[in-house]
Amino acid sequence: MGEVLEVPAGGGAKRYDPNARLAHQHLVCTRCGELRDVFPAGEAGLSLGADDRHGFEVTAVRVVFEGLCPSCRPVGAA
Ligand SMILES: [Zn+2]
Ligand SMILES: [Zn+2]
Repeated sequence: MGEVLEVPAGGGAKRYDPNARLAHQHLVCTRCGELRDVFPAGEAGLSLGADDRHGFEVTAVRVVFEGLCPSCRPVGAA
């Protein structure tokens, strides 16, 4: 399956990410730790201007979208 990336998940569980070689971000349920790969357009709306890079060569952007999955959302919530 090739190299995998260890992803910290909620509750101390460890998951191995089969998509480590595809640029993507994560959507995580803060309650049960459900983890989904998501592919936001571009750099997920994030970019650093030269002044904010502090001399760094930025090679990646890591974004975690957090929320409640359908099974953890309170009943009746949108
Ligand atoms: Zn959940
Ligand atoms: Zn992933």
